[in-house]
Amino acid sequence: MVYKITLIPGDGIGPEVTAATLLVLRATGLEFEFEEVQTGEAALKEYGTPLPEPVLDSLRRNKVGLKGPITTPIGTGFRSVNVGLRQALNLYANVRPARSFEGVSSRYKGVDLVMVRENTEELYSGVEHFVDPEHNAAETISIVTRKASERIVRFAFEYARREGRKKVTAVHKANILKATSGLFLECAQRIAREYPQIKFEDRIVDNMAMQLVLKPEEYDLIVTTNLFGDILSDLCAGLVGGLGVAPSANIGDDVAVFEPVHGSAPKYAGQNKMNPTAMILSACMMLRHLGEAEGAGRIEAAVRAVLKEGKVVTYDLGGKASTTAMAEEIARRMG
Ligand code: NAD
Repeated sequence: MVYKITLIPGDGIGPEVTAATLLVLRATGLEFEFEEVQTGEAALKEYGTPLPEPVLDSLRRNKVGLKGPITTPIGTGFRSVNVGLRQALNLYANVRPARSFEGVSSRYKGVDLVMVRENTEELYSGVEHFVDPEHNAAETISIVTRKASERIVRFAFEYARREGRKKVTAVHKANILKATSGLFLECAQRIAREYPQIKFEDRIVDNMAMQLVLKPEEYDLIVTTNLFGDILSDLCAGLVGGLGVAPSANIGDDVAVFEPVHGSAPKYAGQNKMNPTAMILSACMMLRHLGEAEGAGRIEAAVRAVLKEGKVVTYDLGGKASTTAMAEEIARRMG
């Protein structure tokens, strides 16, 4: 079987970590046909928009995408392609596992948790403007719906059930944001009652940030709204050695897009020195989504071996290897 995949190499370090990931995917022996599409600055020049219709069409057709990071201009310029993609295709669940690896130095050992973040609404709804012509005041609207809250919490519990996770923690700020965060918490509490075999608890987001730093081993699966999930999942990446090893999936009912948690790190672009692990592990999540657990397992075992040995690894892990060399070593270990 040939898997047709939409490929978005992205920009900045995106194309380098994408090429490294394709090298590893080819070593599985599985057959892929990649349909490469352009986004961001490059697409803006050609199509007049950073997220052109052919990108969305390709993803709708192939149902699965592998994506590198895309730069979003800060403060001005075009709206985030990443946010636009998630909203246009209703990729409502952002899944970000954070797992300690032997050989990757970090302050903690034995961390194994998953962040499930609502990906389509709340403060990322894009309803934001300046109130006055002088730009002295700005406002944004946070939209939280019962439908999206129930959907993400149910996704989290189903994921926990499938993956054998024992506890779900809902993170919110319902003490202050009584309507928006309060609605999310109410939905979480209601859906939790449908899963009596899985422990449920809730935490206020500020306390959660502290608890994760103090005792991350106490948490198993965290489900939360968009902004809190964005921030806490980078914190979780920090618990296990940084963005270089943090994969993610954006999942909807019809389409799924797999990408590293990290961004395009523009100042490192073209140097072939960044860690390809996050994108390679994202490709493993893609293989599991396609039902190719064996291929995913072989890549993950090779990644673990290379990280543990620590010889052919990139600079962020204390090594000197290039992006390409590290990927080649992972492919070689797959036998
Ligand atoms: P970033 O993740 O690009 O980089 C932050 C730092 O993390 C880097 O300076 C580097 O030290 C480290 N890092 C990131 N990726 C690494 C890798 N593969 N190997 C080793 N170290 C790595 O975050 P940023 O600088 O805040 O954002 C840069 C651009 O990326 C922005 O335009 C932002 O909007 C965009 N971004 C895109 C996505 C996405 O496409 N999903 C996600 C986050 C940020």
